[in-house]
Amino acid sequence: MRHALVVGAGIGGLTTALCLARVGWRVTLIEQAEALSEVGAGIQLTPNAMRVLDWLDVSISLDRVGHRPTGVVTRAWRSGREITTTSIVPSAAPTYLQIHRADLIDVLAHAAMNEAKIEIHLSETVESIEITASGASVATSNARLVEADVLIGADGIHSVVREALFDDESPRFTGHVAWRGLIDAENIGIDVPKKVVAWWGPQRHFVHYFVRGGRLINCVAVVEQKAWQSESWVERGDAQTLIDEFRAWHPLVRDLVAALDPSTCYRWGLFDRAPLERWGVDVATLVGDACHPTLPFLAQGGALAIEDGAVLAGCLANGEARSALRRYEALRQRRTARVQRASKRNGTIFHLRGIAALARNLAAQPLARRVLDSVFDYDAIKEGGLEGFRDGGNG
Ligand SMILES: Cc1cc2nc3c(=O)[nH]c(=O)nc-3n(C[C@H](O)[C@H](O)[C@H](O)COP(=O)(O)OP(=O)(O)OC[C@H]3O[C@@H](n4cnc5c(N)ncnc54)[C@H](O)[C@@H]3O)c2cc1C
Repeated sequence: MRHALVVGAGIGGLTTALCLARVGWRVTLIEQAEALSEVGAGIQLTPNAMRVLDWLDVSISLDRVGHRPTGVVTRAWRSGREITTTSIVPSAAPTYLQIHRADLIDVLAHAAMNEAKIEIHLSETVESIEITASGASVATSNARLVEADVLIGADGIHSVVREALFDDESPRFTGHVAWRGLIDAENIGIDVPKKVVAWWGPQRHFVHYFVRGGRLINCVAVVEQKAWQSESWVERGDAQTLIDEFRAWHPLVRDLVAALDPSTCYRWGLFDRAPLERWGVDVATLVGDACHPTLPFLAQGGALAIEDGAVLAGCLANGEARSALRRYEALRQRRTARVQRASKRNGTIFHLRGIAALARNLAAQPLARRVLDSVFDYDAIKEGGLEGFRDGGNG
């Protein structure tokens, strides 16, 4: 049985492992953390991601712990006036799901642990990598040497696999800091729409949506900041600072910020990298943030990682390893670069002020549906030629 080594068991690594097992590959998954979990609050799983998760038969479990929105709305920061509104039919397939990250990782990890073809090693860091035309081997922090037919770097924006493959620049701070936190929806006492709501304002924006069956509200606030001084790229956030940042905003935003559970409040410096010209060398390649870190302003970084896993598995199912990896990269490059660029552009558009903001508001509605459709309609199962693969690798 052909064998893949996947470094990193985040959203991208777990999905890639599950997709590969589905097409008959054996997978060794190496993760540096002690347990499979995620910091950070919610994540939106848009229909393009759910199409793959449906194919993996995990969408029913996700649905039990997620929440389906009825629309996506953008509003002006102070007046609350709707700028764009897009309805979502909650019963449509594939669904649009909002979920706590810990719940998503939990469902994916359970599926991986119940899959005989996947072996997971926790508390193990990949330290050195050797790649040849016919195979790859890595040495881990536990002094193990793992050999495989292909090596897949799913190890996030600070990827060691990427570093081993390319002489590359480090990730750059984008001038944005994202705050995330949760609110207990059952005790908040405010009427909050069951939609994804994004408030656009000068130099910052605020997004909220329900997760965990509607019992929690996930909030993301993005604020422009000149530099990121912290050693770590994630740190605890002081809820009072966030209250001050949004002091002049619409009362609903102020109420939500004030209701955030301070123990769930974290800050992330947002970093990015330009799209790569080459994604892999010989039998090695990259998926997810390791390859194309994507700013969260279209809610697509995780979705792209999930799509990568499906297309990669489809290519490997249908071809010799080296040429299959190059085919995967060719199929994915344009899509991911386009979404990376559109997400970055949104960072500027959301934060406009004055006349520029007024002009944006007039043009936004006709564009909103078009942009969302072009992102959501992508079918990674079709792109990877996986339609025939169901039930454990029977193509
Ligand atoms: C504020 C914010 C909001 C977002 N909202 C959304 C959203 O709504 N929808 C969406 O689709 N995306 C969203 N994203 C983006 C999404 O979170 C990321 O794109 C996604 O988590 C990337 O997954 P990944 O598996 O590629 O990388 P990661 O999640 O970074 O996982 C990498 C894994 O590799 C492990 N690792 C690293 N180095 C090593 C090593 N040397 N050895 C072994 N293991 C290693 C790490 O421990 C980690 O588990 C958001 C991001 C932010 C910051």
